[in-house]
Amino acid sequence: MNSLSTNSANSPVAHCSSIFHLIDDPRLTKDPYVFIDNGMLVVENGIIIAAGERNEIEPTLAVDCKIVEHPNTIITPGFFDLHIHFPQLTTVAFYGEQLLGWLNGIIPEEEIYKNPEIAAERAKIFLKETLRAGTTTMCAYGSWAKESVDALFSEAERLNLRLIAGKVMADRNMPDGISITNPKDDYEHSSELIEKWHGRARLAYAVTPRFAISCTPEDLKVAGNLMKENPGIYMQTHLSENPKEISFTLELFPGRKSYLDVYDHYGLVNERSIFGHCIHLDDDDFKRVSETGAVLCPNPPSNMFLGSGLFKFEKAKEYGIRMGMGTDFGAGNTFSMLQSMENAYKTAQLQGYSLSPFEAFYHATLGGARALSIDNKVGNFEIGKEADFVVLDACCTPFISWRMEHAKTPLEKLFVLMMLGDDRAVKHTYVYGNPVHSRDS
Ligand SMILES: [Zn+2]
Repeated sequence: MNSLSTNSANSPVAHCSSIFHLIDDPRLTKDPYVFIDNGMLVVENGIIIAAGERNEIEPTLAVDCKIVEHPNTIITPGFFDLHIHFPQLTTVAFYGEQLLGWLNGIIPEEEIYKNPEIAAERAKIFLKETLRAGTTTMCAYGSWAKESVDALFSEAERLNLRLIAGKVMADRNMPDGISITNPKDDYEHSSELIEKWHGRARLAYAVTPRFAISCTPEDLKVAGNLMKENPGIYMQTHLSENPKEISFTLELFPGRKSYLDVYDHYGLVNERSIFGHCIHLDDDDFKRVSETGAVLCPNPPSNMFLGSGLFKFEKAKEYGIRMGMGTDFGAGNTFSMLQSMENAYKTAQLQGYSLSPFEAFYHATLGGARALSIDNKVGNFEIGKEADFVVLDACCTPFISWRMEHAKTPLEKLFVLMMLGDDRAVKHTYVYGNPVHSRDS
C-alpha cells in the first residue's frame, strides 16, 4: 500500500489534481461538465464529501485529513464498460474471421471456465487488467458454466468492485463438441446465482442469453421469466451486430418483424435491458428502444476488429437513447475505455458526425451510470456518491506530455487523452476510496 492511499482508517483523504466530471448529458445540455485546473476531491469512508476548487476546500479540511498530491494529472470518475466478456482472455486477437466464424473459433475456449480453480485464477487476471485500464463498473458475460460467474463475483467482492454479470444462456447453435445448456438448467443455474449474488456487496445479476441465434424460443422464454420473477436484475445480450447474424436470426424466428422484435416478444426489451452493438437498427427499432427506455451499448473496438459496422451515434442522439459504451473484450482488442472512446470518435467521423470528448466521456462515465440506473451512487463527483475514480496522467509518455503542453482548453486536454491515451495514462485507480491499481508500484 503506498502513501497515496487508503481511506479505510476513517480519516478523510483529500486528492489534489485537476478534476473533470460530467453533470449532465452533453447531447441535451450546453455546459454539461465541470473542469477544475487546481481541484480537490475529498473522500471519507469510501464516499465523496467534497469536490471543487482546492483553495476553497482546503481551509475547511478536518485536522486529521491526509492530503495527497497528484501533479500533472486529471481525476475523472472511474470508467464504465457496459459490455465485456470474462472468458475470452486467451482468445483475444483471434485472426481472420468476422462474427459467426470468429465465434466458432473462440467459444470452445469457454469450456475451461467450468473448472473453479482455473476460473478463480483467471478472474484475478481479468479484474486486474480492467482496473489497470481504469474501469470500475462493468457489465460482464461469464461462460455458460455457473462456476465462471461464481469466480468473477467472488473476486469482485474481494476488491469491493461494482460488477454486473451473468452466466451465458445458450441451448443451440454452438460449435461442435462444446457443452450446451438447456432451458431447465439455464433457469436453475441462473436462479441459483441470482439468489447467491444479486444485491450482495456492490454486485448485481444480469440474465445473459448469449444472442438470439444461440437460444431456442423456450430459452428466451426462461430469460423473460427470470426477469419477471426477480425485479431489479438486468438483462444483457447482443443485438444487430452483423448482417449474416441478423438474417440467420430472422430465419430462426419467422414472424418477428425485426431482430429487436425477437427479444421484445419474450419480454426482454425494457429499462433494465442492455443491448450490445446495435449497429444495423432502423428507425422503427430506435423508436421502440426509445419508448421502452432500453439501453444501447456500442463497442467500437470490437466493431472495427470484426468489421461489423458503424454504430449510429448521431441517430441515438436524435432519439435520446439511454446508452453507455463498452469494449466487448475479447472481440474488442483492448480493456481500455480511452481506446474505446478513440474508436467511437473514428466511427462517428466515418459517418460525418464529430463526437465530442464530452459526449465520449459521458457514455463512459455518467451516461453508463444512468443507463444502469445507479447514477445516485456513482458516475460523477456529486457529494455523497461512492468514490470510484481514476487519476489520469497527462504526462504518461514523452510525446503526450509535450502535446499536452499545447492543449489549452478542457476539450483539448480530454481529446488528447482520448485519442492518444490507453492504460499507460491510468496512474491510479481507486474503488470506494481505496487504491486498487497503481501503475508505477
Ligand atoms: Zn459481446
